[in-house]
Amino acid sequence: MKNNKKFETNSVRAGSIRSDEGEHSEALYLTSSFVFKNAKEAAARFANSEVGNIYSRFTNPSVKMFEDRLASLEGAEQCVATSTGMSAILASVMSLCNTGDHIIVSKSVFGTTVKLFDNILKKWGLDISYVSLTDFSEWHNAVKKNTKLFFVETPSNPLTEICDISVLADLAHQSNSLLIVDNCFCTPAHQLPLQFGADVIIHSATKYLDGQGRCLGGAVLGKRDHMHHVASFLRSAGTSMSPFNAWVFFKGLETLKIRMDAHSAKAIDLAVWLEQKKKVSKVYYPGLPSHPQYELAMKQQLSGGGIVSFEVKGNKIDAWSLIDSTKIISITANLGDTRSTITHPATTTHSRLSQKERDSSGITDNLIRIAVGLEDIDDIKEDLSAL
Ligand SMILES: *Cc1c(COP(=O)(O)O)cnc(C)c1O
Repeated sequence: MKNNKKFETNSVRAGSIRSDEGEHSEALYLTSSFVFKNAKEAAARFANSEVGNIYSRFTNPSVKMFEDRLASLEGAEQCVATSTGMSAILASVMSLCNTGDHIIVSKSVFGTTVKLFDNILKKWGLDISYVSLTDFSEWHNAVKKNTKLFFVETPSNPLTEICDISVLADLAHQSNSLLIVDNCFCTPAHQLPLQFGADVIIHSATKYLDGQGRCLGGAVLGKRDHMHHVASFLRSAGTSMSPFNAWVFFKGLETLKIRMDAHSAKAIDLAVWLEQKKKVSKVYYPGLPSHPQYELAMKQQLSGGGIVSFEVKGNKIDAWSLIDSTKIISITANLGDTRSTITHPATTTHSRLSQKERDSSGITDNLIRIAVGLEDIDDIKEDLSAL
């Protein structure tokens, strides 16, 4: 779905399908199946000799609109929509790997991603190694003969570590592997991993692509050759996106760029403010010059993104008491919403990791994550006045 239009034009125009009714806002195709003119047409569609809709588990115009629009934004040949972000990861691994293959994963990935690899995918004979997101010698040393995939999140959740995508892509390709990037935090509005050599993009559409905390969904993007396998997996495994959710995400993409610009402008303001607070011992935000990978972040991303994490002085009790003192910010594990959210990663999103796993990935008990929403940032600072 590559074209030469600019990002903001594609956000509101790409992928649009209009019926003969002439609707301006695209219709929602809320139907499980499609009828054929006759038996011959049905046979031709099933034989793949004629293109057309069959059944919404694998063909639905609302889902296609979302897929084509997101593909144009990421600069990908093809997008395959999935029921959730987790099913996007499952579908990409199941369709690009075989039993016995080896996957190298950065330690600092979404907590459930680790659970998927360790509790489910390992059972099916996949060999998984974890390495530091930022230490290339660890990646290099972890490569085995059967390595097939490199999997990263950059920036990582919740510590906003950054990986140099082009260096890792080169290393993956030298090792006959593909690089998968979970582009949840920056979205294509602020980071285009395929341009830096990544092969596959994962999204939890649940986050910024919706942007308003309404629906669960996910997406896998990349070359047609690879996406063909992902689409076949979904057709049989059934973890497809619902047309209603696709229609919501399709609309969400229309405001993605202006939302991401606003989230990140407010986030840098908050991060600078937090750095000056006596009760804050450390701030993690890639847009801050104090971030160890500030220069790389500014080269690879359009901004530092909308997520700011910080450590309060003290322990879990101090972190919890700050969280409980807020009145506006929502206490929830979600992120990427118009409303700011505050999370204690150690006891929520990352609580299923063992203490050892948390220690090795730097998720301390005094760490707090804020996903900055679209409220006036002065009101958010006021809400954190206990600091
Ligand atoms: C939330 C999230 C996921 C999982 O997405 P769901 O839509 O909740 O299944 C995967 N990766 C990252 C980085 C996330 O934040």
